[in-house]
Amino acid sequence: MTELRIEGLSKRFGTYLALDDVSITIPNGKFVCLLGPSGCGKTTLLRLIAGLETPSEGRILVGGADLSAVPSHKRGMGMVFQSLALFPHLDVAENIAYPLAIRGTDRASRQATAARLLDLVKLPGMGGRRIHQLSGGQRQRVAIARGLAIDPKVFLLDEPLSALDAGLREHMQIELRQIQQSLGVTTVVVTHDQKEALTMADLVIVMKDGKVQQAGTPMEIYHAPANAFVADFIGSTNLIPCRWDGQAIEVLGHRLTPAEGDRIATAPGLAQLSVRPEHVEIATPGTGFAAEITFIRDLGESVHFVTRCGAQTITAQVAPGARPPFGVGDAVSLSFRPGKRVVLA
Ligand code: ATP
Repeated sequence: MTELRIEGLSKRFGTYLALDDVSITIPNGKFVCLLGPSGCGKTTLLRLIAGLETPSEGRILVGGADLSAVPSHKRGMGMVFQSLALFPHLDVAENIAYPLAIRGTDRASRQATAARLLDLVKLPGMGGRRIHQLSGGQRQRVAIARGLAIDPKVFLLDEPLSALDAGLREHMQIELRQIQQSLGVTTVVVTHDQKEALTMADLVIVMKDGKVQQAGTPMEIYHAPANAFVADFIGSTNLIPCRWDGQAIEVLGHRLTPAEGDRIATAPGLAQLSVRPEHVEIATPGTGFAAEITFIRDLGESVHFVTRCGAQTITAQVAPGARPPFGVGDAVSLSFRPGKRVVLA
């Protein structure tokens, strides 16, 4: 079993606290994405797991064994860096087998491993090429193959797909996931791309300011964000200042009584109401929130009505078939679908 456990991990650079008391358990064989804005500590956490940095506090365990005294090259971890760090003077097969060469593995085994991994990453027969003869996507595959060469217990990748264009990137997300599943290797990927994390991961760990904000499945993160930061970072939700008084949600001059399915994830007091655009209903002026349409965005598969409600911008999303006949400047009435409202700290 290669469960990866992180216990009370902190990292200081001088007086700066880059990682603040992080505890996470990653079950054997799971694919985990560390997700968060630039500077939140994702790479620092990955480098600590790899043994490239030393923790200020806390420990890392793999399969129950404490790694504190284990140097990086003995941790059994495969790594793919954002820069890829491929060697131009070596051919593709030598690049892939490099981690084995520095461990003293014989030439025949190195060649066999390189050939096997080239098949796995769909570059069969390309072992003799030089790095400069490869496309960006092919280089990415070589870096992934090299990360897997030592048959790692844990596979660590830092923004592995960030240099690829959008189309290739989506394709590689699926391929990376398939490779990981075929090997069953416990994998941790750093990304700042919400969609990428939700597409690939079994478990998403959302970070901010060196702290874990939420760890959960993509469904949990998307549908039950732990706080307003997670809801906002995962994207596209309406966040509206409100007050939860223990019985009703006071928002934009209205009092809403929670219905079955609504989620109150904070103590009474000032809070944020999160309502996804697909759960905002838009109608002719009536009893709901009075608003004015300021912009209409037609994305083909959905139509977004951006409205102003007092000082607040609220977006409603409808299917093209259900598009109401409103235009920019029209007065409308908004309502938030009961059972889909979330009150967050
Ligand atoms: P990005 O998405 O931009 O790569 P990140 O979430 O991976 O960001 P880290 O690289 O882990 O963030 O950095 C976290 C914080 O720690 C940043 O404020 C960074 O400036 C700081 N930091 C990282 N490494 C060092 C270092 N060696 N010395 C000093 N400060 C550092």
